[in-house]
Amino acid sequence: MKQLSVIFSFILICFSCNTKPKEIIKTTYKEVATETKKTIKNPPLSITKDFVLGKFDYKSDSSFVKVSTVHSTKEVHLNNEVYNAFLLMADSALKSGIKLKIISGTRNFYEQKVIWERKWEKFSNLKPIERAKKILEYSSMPSSSRHHWGTDVDLNSLNNSYFNSGKGLETYNWLIAHANTFGFYQVYTDKENNRTGYNLEKWHWSYLPLASQYLEFYNTNIDIKDIKGFDGSKLAEKINIIEDYVNGISKKAKKYKLK
Ligand SMILES: [Zn+2]
Repeated sequence: MKQLSVIFSFILICFSCNTKPKEIIKTTYKEVATETKKTIKNPPLSITKDFVLGKFDYKSDSSFVKVSTVHSTKEVHLNNEVYNAFLLMADSALKSGIKLKIISGTRNFYEQKVIWERKWEKFSNLKPIERAKKILEYSSMPSSSRHHWGTDVDLNSLNNSYFNSGKGLETYNWLIAHANTFGFYQVYTDKENNRTGYNLEKWHWSYLPLASQYLEFYNTNIDIKDIKGFDGSKLAEKINIIEDYVNGISKKAKKYKLK
């Protein structure tokens, strides 16, 4: 009898070991999704010049929300609608054993200026145009980044090589097959088909139901002279920042229309 109860206890421990972590993750995802839905107030889409140029404080903006640490590696903020779509995508991915973690989300003008000017100093040995273009391989000029809008996320790793094999490749293949269903598109694809601008970024995914509207507004309202207020900003015109970089996105993303 004593032996039997020991065996029974052992089975019980094993059972709880196997099921508990999964249950915890599932509950957390569900809770976060419900919580986010509650906070969405469906604000009217008011797009302004300052907004698309990144000159606003997303931390005090009611259309932005802080991402749960379950889904991020540091403090990340996203537009409400984008986060909700991300939660659905992350939940679906998890069912296929894929974990999606946000490394970076919204960055405003002032944060981008810090990144840009740090790199501007780093490459001070180069001539002005080369100096800016070196930074522009992967980083944006302030006021020209999609990360200003709260619609774009960097996922899992900032190295393309991570997505070339093993779990990274599995994750990338899942995103290629399913992310579009949730509104997310890879915008910085390889440079075949004459895509201009930033290098290939397998980690950068953009929520086009909103981002496509912001880009349209940007293209009709923003002038090259609006890109100012940081070291080297005078080069924006020569480098064709708006045409080659802001609009240097994949063909699929360019063709995207709201259904
Ligand atoms: Zn990015």
